[in-house]
Amino acid sequence: MSTCIFCKIISREIPSEILAENEYAISILDLNPIHYGHALIIPKNHHKDFLEVPGNEIGGIMSLTHAIAHALVKTYNLQGFNFFSNNGEIAGQSVFHFHIHVTPRYPNDDIHFQLSLKKYPDGLMKETAQRIKENISSIK
Ligand code: AMP
Ligand code: ZN
Repeated sequence: MSTCIFCKIISREIPSEILAENEYAISILDLNPIHYGHALIIPKNHHKDFLEVPGNEIGGIMSLTHAIAHALVKTYNLQGFNFFSNNGEIAGQSVFHFHIHVTPRYPNDDIHFQLSLKKYPDGLMKETAQRIKENISSIK
């Protein structure tokens, strides 16, 4: 028996406001929305984070995310929205079953991602790209 809250939502053990589903994912309303309509897209299989999601499920998850983003824009006549995913406690993840957030944005809605941007010193950008490229194992 899973203790995972999202697994329980998927199996209908606990109620949620379901928006849509496909073979690989379900979308529900977030209980604590940034704005009304804030939706979550959750794979039907339990994977703790993005790294654990097998490649064959990615397409289905993203296509449901795409459909929900379109629906939110149409419903609220949005000029913009954010979609994002927190992976790992240090990144703000609180439910350890992978999910993508999609939330409406509005002019002057006072939501800020507080970033302090860096600059690469000479040569470090190329070296950084090289290091990462060496670790890319497969691109489908
Ligand atoms: P994160 O912090 O990125 O892991 O996001 C988890 C999200 O799940 C939060 O925004 C919560 O508000 C939401 N959440 C937690 N429990 C439920 C629930 N039972 N139904 C809907 N959303 C939930
Ligand atoms: Zn789960």
